[in-house]
Formats: sequence, structure tokens, C-alpha cells
Amino acid sequence: MLAKVRSATVLGVEGHPVRVEVHVAQGLPCFTVVGLPDASCRESRDRVRAAVQSSKFTWQQQRITVNLAPTSLRKVGSGLDLAMAVGMLVATHQLSERVTAHLGYLAELGLDGSLRPVPGVLPALDALSEVRPVVALANLAEARLLRPDAVGAADLRELVAALRGDEPWPEPPPPHAPSLAPAHKDLSDVQGHVIARAALEVAAAGGHHLLMSGPPGAGKTMLAERLVGLLPDLDERRAMQVSRVHSVASQLRAEAGLPTRPPYRAPHHTASLVAMIGGGSSMLRPGEISLASGGVLFLDELGEFPVAHLEAFRQPLEHAVVHLSRAQHHVVLPADFLLVAATNPCPCGVGEWGACTCSPTQVARYRRRLSGPILDRFDLRIGVDPPDPTSVLGTGSGGERSSAVRSRVAAARARARARGVSTNRQLDGEQLDLHAPLSDGARRLLRSHLAEGRLSMRGAQRARAVALTLADLAGVDGPLDADRVEQAVSLRGEPARPELVP
Ligand SMILES: [Zn+2]
Repeated sequence: MLAKVRSATVLGVEGHPVRVEVHVAQGLPCFTVVGLPDASCRESRDRVRAAVQSSKFTWQQQRITVNLAPTSLRKVGSGLDLAMAVGMLVATHQLSERVTAHLGYLAELGLDGSLRPVPGVLPALDALSEVRPVVALANLAEARLLRPDAVGAADLRELVAALRGDEPWPEPPPPHAPSLAPAHKDLSDVQGHVIARAALEVAAAGGHHLLMSGPPGAGKTMLAERLVGLLPDLDERRAMQVSRVHSVASQLRAEAGLPTRPPYRAPHHTASLVAMIGGGSSMLRPGEISLASGGVLFLDELGEFPVAHLEAFRQPLEHAVVHLSRAQHHVVLPADFLLVAATNPCPCGVGEWGACTCSPTQVARYRRRLSGPILDRFDLRIGVDPPDPTSVLGTGSGGERSSAVRSRVAAARARARARGVSTNRQLDGEQLDLHAPLSDGARRLLRSHLAEGRLSMRGAQRARAVALTLADLAGVDGPLDADRVEQAVSLRGEPARPELVP
């Protein structure tokens, strides 16, 4: 007999429907899986057989063929296990097709018959929109973010009992403790750092990538950690996008509901290229740049990252997506992050802030690594001085709270949206002409910077976008004045901080 059961597979962050066809016939006992399964999917055979037998159902010593349709699509992972087992039970008349047909199945099977969670439940559910999803009990909270009608079971026996109507669908135990979203570190803890605080606010408001240079202990990491707290809450569309990516990486804390705050990722420079960019297994998993999408990616010690990593950042920084391919498969993952990076001025880290022990060759080599296109992506490049002791010991009161800055950022972003972009970073030449007209003074200022070679053409355009963000933060309309443009040029670090411009 032939049984057809619905399931789904995930490539990148996209779910694809899969029809699992199980055919049981007379003949030499064997169990074959066809239809482009990857290695872990092929191993389903052994898990399904053991799970069915451990759950005290009958395993027919017959010729069993499982076809995964459409056959042109690669099936990855173990999420089709449950659909195969259900198909097997239907094809051998141990379960009625009437009770299984309107459901879609998505879980890995343990040898003992338990249903185990799988990564990527949220995108997989997109492919099961016409049926009621059945998942492992451990995946149920996640599935219900998207599908409140989803049901789950702890093992195959429990599932069959619920399908037959002998038992109600089990509910997961309540979460142990109310899981709270991690509180973001507050800007009010930061003493001094007037320029860096301003740069963080501009970065958050305009989506401008930020590079900080300074000696160790100057507070670069502490500042970077506070950037994400300045971003507005995620809207529902963004929250779903963030959840899908984190679901595929098994990093979604679904008990807490949809995330409301943007993600913050700070990978170490020893992370592999696959961990950073994504790919790897045949599932084409998201890397750090996709996990940071919608939020902040912090790269500490940017100069220590391998050149191949820095090269690989160029496309995502330009297009806000990353293209991954493996064999014939090609996926596009979101990579729309705000980049904040920190670097020491030289290998010993002291630079012009103290007695540097590096040779000129060492310094030149160090700076060359950061040169070129990646450096060009930072609209804001600031030096971070070690905090002035008097400001640390000063009045004891920090600066403004993150929430106050966040409301200015939200207002500035609303002005950008009125221009048809989500942040001013996305404005290019023509749009800048339209939305960021220059006053006569500002025009003269940029001309003289260009004539003296202190700004490139591109640098001048980027400074104009930053000046527009400064005006948005101040709530000012009309042509950009010279003061604001000068402020934007100095935040760009050309040439006030020559150590950043090799
Ligand atoms: Zn040095």
C-alpha cells in the first residue's frame, strides 16, 4: 500500500514543502529512501525502524520504499523522520489515513521512539500553511509563535494515541522560570567619552557603520555593547525575520515570545569563515552576520580578523544579504546589520596614546590589513581616548540614559522612512541631492576639503549622509549648514585621525 504524508525541509531560512510517500510491497525485506536525501536524512531509515519497533508497533519485513517529493529538491537534516514513521504506520494499516492526512509532521526520532526538536521550525512552518503542524513537544512553543494551532507530542506512542483520539494532545510543561530578555547595558553607565557617545547616537539613528580606534582599556567594547540599546524595538516584520534566522540556528528562546529587541552579536576573530558568513553543512546555516541581521554586529580587534573574512564582509555590507551556495543549491540569507568595529592603533596597542614599541614596518603591515574597501564602509571613524580620570571620579552621575537617546533615534529614523529608506546610510548620490541639499557655506566647505585632497568624492557624499542624520537628530529641516557638514567630516575621521586612513 502507498501512503502520502506532508512535511517540510529547510534550506537557508526558507522552508520547502516535502511529500513523503511510503510504499510497502511484497518482496525481499529492505528499506530504501530516494528523492535527494542528504547524509543525515538517509540515516532516517535506521532511526525510523528503531523508533517504530521501540514503540511496540509492527515493523513489516517487506520491501519498503520512501520517496521524498519533489525529487529535484535536496532534503536536509532529520526533520522528515516523523513523517516517514507516520507514513510507514499508515501504509501498514496501523494508523488510518483519515486521521493523519490533514496534518504536517516535523520532528527527529530517537531510537526509543521519542520526538526530538529540529532546527528551523519557523521557516519550515511556512511550507506547511495548509495543514496543522505536529512537532516535538520541545519545539511546540516555537511553532506556536507562528501557528497557534500547532500540536506536539513527546514520543511516537503519545502521537498515535492523540491521532486516534484515545488521548488529548499533550501540552508542554510550563517554562521553569519566566525567561526575561537580557537587559541591554545602559549608556548612562558611561563616564566621559563625549565624542564616542555622539558617534553611537549618529550610528544608531542613520544606520552608519562605526569604527573606533584606541588603546586597550579605552572603553571601546563597553561603548559597542551599548549601541544595540539605542536602536528602536523590532517591528513585527523584523521580529519574525530575526526569529526565523535564530530558529534555523537553534538559538531562538521561544518561551519568551517573539523577540522585541534587536540582536547583538560579537564573534571573536578566531571564528571560522563559515561561522561568520554562514554555509557549511548542506543545510546552509546562517552565520554571525545573519544572526546579527536587524541588530548590531561588533567586531573587536578588526585588524586581527583574517583577510578572507574581511573580504567576505564586502558583499553583505553592500547589499544587506549574503549569497551562499553549495553544490546546486543557492540561498540568500538576510545580513542587514549595523557594524561597529574596534581596532588598536598598532600591534602593541598603544599607538600615539603612549610609548609605542612597534617598528614602522609592523605598524604599516597592521594598517594595510584594514585598508581598502572594508574601511570605506565606515561612515564614522573615531578615536577613543582613555577616559579622563577626572571624569571617571567626577560627579558620579553618568550621562544620558539609553532610553532618552533611543527616542531621538526613533524620531530620526521616522524622518528617514519618509524619504523611502529605513536609514540614511542607504541614500545614494541622487537621493542625497534630493534629500540633503547643501547651504552655500556647506558647499564651499566640501569643495575646499575635496580640492585639498582631505576628502574623496565618495567620502564627501558619505559625510553628507551623516550630516543629514545629524540634522534629523536635531529635528532640523532645509539645506545642511556648514557646521553640521564639518561635524560629519570630523566624525568620518578624515584626516583628523590619520592613523585610521592608511
Ligand atoms: Zn605600537
